[in-house]
Amino acid sequence: MEPSNYYIIMKTKIEQLLKTAELAISESYCPYSNFPVSAVLVSEAGKIFTGVNIENSSFGLTNCAERTAVFKAVSEGYTKFSDILIFAPKAMPYPCGACRQVLSEFAGEQFNIHVATIKDNVPVVESYTLAELLPKAFSK
Ligand SMILES: [Zn+2]
Repeated sequence: MEPSNYYIIMKTKIEQLLKTAELAISESYCPYSNFPVSAVLVSEAGKIFTGVNIENSSFGLTNCAERTAVFKAVSEGYTKFSDILIFAPKAMPYPCGACRQVLSEFAGEQFNIHVATIKDNVPVVESYTLAELLPKAFSK
């Protein structure tokens, strides 16, 4: 069966986001968990923001990669997003509850959450809508 154009466009987009996430992950600051995570956030206008997890010796102050990317983007005036890809080489990095809530605040009308890891040297990506990961979200 021929893949649809939509599938091809999404596959290419996800591959590009994954490449960006793989480059960004070198900036992860994770001396305590040794579990690097990066995130690539795409604004509705197509601007790209990266983020990494930033740990702290006072563990509660640690910030996830997704929220780092969102806060960078919002602080530069971008508040609506179409996609985020979250990447961790060691295991599939499903976003935590706090990040799901922050993402829901700034999700555009169509918002896709892609999670990616490397398994047996092959990238593995899963894609979800926000509603799938945060049903019945708290909102204004
Ligand atoms: Zn999180």
